Amino acid sequence: MGLIVQKFGGSSVKDTERIFNVADIVTSTYAKGNDVVVVVSAQGDVTDDLIAKAKEVNEKASRREMDMLLSSGEQVSASLLAMAIEKLGYPVVSLLGWQAGFLTTSDYSNARIKKVMPERIRKELDKRNIVIVAGFQGVNRFNDITTIGRGGSDTSAVAIAAVMHADLCQIYTDVEGVFTADPRKIPGAKKLDVISYDEMLELATLGAQVLHNRSVEMAKKYNIELEVLSSLTRKPGTIVKEETKMEKMLISGVAKDDHIARISIVGVPDKPGFAFKLFSKLSNKNVNVDIILQSIGRNGTKDISFTIAEDNLDVALEVIENYVSNVGASTVLHDENVSKVSIVGAGMESHPGVASEMFEALYDSNVNIQMISTSEIKISVLINRADADKAVRAIHDKFFGE
Ligand code: ADP
Ligand code: ASP
Ligand code: MG
Repeated sequence: MGLIVQKFGGSSVKDTERIFNVADIVTSTYAKGNDVVVVVSAQGDVTDDLIAKAKEVNEKASRREMDMLLSSGEQVSASLLAMAIEKLGYPVVSLLGWQAGFLTTSDYSNARIKKVMPERIRKELDKRNIVIVAGFQGVNRFNDITTIGRGGSDTSAVAIAAVMHADLCQIYTDVEGVFTADPRKIPGAKKLDVISYDEMLELATLGAQVLHNRSVEMAKKYNIELEVLSSLTRKPGTIVKEETKMEKMLISGVAKDDHIARISIVGVPDKPGFAFKLFSKLSNKNVNVDIILQSIGRNGTKDISFTIAEDNLDVALEVIENYVSNVGASTVLHDENVSKVSIVGAGMESHPGVASEMFEALYDSNVNIQMISTSEIKISVLINRADADKAVRAIHDKFFGE
């Protein structure tokens, strides 16, 4: 018995039948004597549909109004779930982000949770209510509604678990846990029983959408063990926890990110300061630069290439065109038809040869590598987007095939 936080993603609450399925999981947890706080996402594809609807009205709607709109998705699912639980005869209350004490920054559509003031949730739990909280949202210091980034309900759940010192934080989704690759794309992907925070953080950041990367960051910071599991099959899922408590896996997974673009600046003057000035201008515009490759200078010039999130392409190109015309670099090229494919594993640090095995898998399937980047626990390659699925399969086969 204790305090359990359970989060249910969009597919777990997509229709009435699924809502009653969730109500059943929640009430049976409650019936065992636990305090239960539930975080829900919007039903099914509601968030995407709302975005499409907004675009119909105004292509350039302000981010404040987008947040007003998008937060409504979670309001619907929270209240519907509460109604289902009422119908089953259990005491329940649903709360929006601001009622649950979520204070965020003012960075609309990608706000950060500054703190969670849990008094209201606590009061409701004291009354023995099951508490349903609308995920993905909060309020800023101007009392305006904010949202915390796509997939952010995972982070809402972990934030509550952290501030309330929950005994367990379960993330229910539509797959049975964290797999060695996206199980919807790679049928041979294997479910992991356990994965470390660091590896999960890399996988989430490198494109495995099963957890919002900030939820993993927060879970690590506050040492909250997470369980990722299916709301449909009800089998044990994957535990995400501190690495010291487990044996290191050589490779824990393969991830793919299609939402990136590559920019190359050709003919940059080969003098100190260019990279510094360029990247600080990009960072001033909140453009995050990922893999960077610079060629050796020849004839007084060099080339510099880097990747950014696809969403940032327009802003980045504007900054670069401006800057480059001032310093006399010749050409700015960009390519959106690229993907980043990565392997992650805490064990690769102490095992030479992992990179060459990955590159061999790519070579065997005739995939050309454009850029490479590595850290202690990951290797990423940038490749042609058309090759990405083939590449993931080949790499997955190499490391996990029978
Ligand atoms: P939810 O709506 O429950 O938040 P998401 O769609 O955000 O669910 O995340 C679950 C999806 O993540 C799965 O359906 C799966 O296709 C995808 N996914 C990508 N990589 C992985 C992975 N390594 N392990 C498990 N699922 C993954
Ligand atoms: N509904 C939001 C989204 O689709 C938040 C979430 O699902 O976690 O991104
Ligand atoms: Mg999600």
